[in-house]
Amino acid sequence: MSSDPAAGPTHADLIREAAAYLNPVEISGRLFGNGAAIAETPDGRHFPGVCIDTPCGTGFCAEAAAIAAMVTAGEQRIARIVAVWRDPSTERLHVLPPCGRCRLFISQVHADNLHRTRVILGDQEAAVLADLIPRHEWPSPLDSPF
Ligand SMILES: [Zn+2]
Repeated sequence: MSSDPAAGPTHADLIREAAAYLNPVEISGRLFGNGAAIAETPDGRHFPGVCIDTPCGTGFCAEAAAIAAMVTAGEQRIARIVAVWRDPSTERLHVLPPCGRCRLFISQVHADNLHRTRVILGDQEAAVLADLIPRHEWPSPLDSPF
């Protein structure tokens, strides 16, 4: 962890920022706001989002909500992204890796994101998005005719 302010927020800073948006509310037996995320743009802007679990099939993850806010503000590139959830039984905070749908979503919001977005996986751990999407390359054509 760096104490140089020019280096920008640490993973722990982003984790704390995301956690500040946790606000679980039960609506008709579904939880809203029990997951929260921060999407950070290359120029250092931060966009929060929370998950909304609805029964109609259009519910979405906190990462998707954060990205929607970011795109609404005119940015598609994500430098870093983090999502958190607090276990209500232990009150301990967890950093959540993005689900498969969100991994693909991040990669499709801007072509740069696949190899430039760093997904925060802990206060000392992050991975480039491409490393979290096995076989993301477009496949070569088959050699023999079918
Ligand atoms: Zn997701």
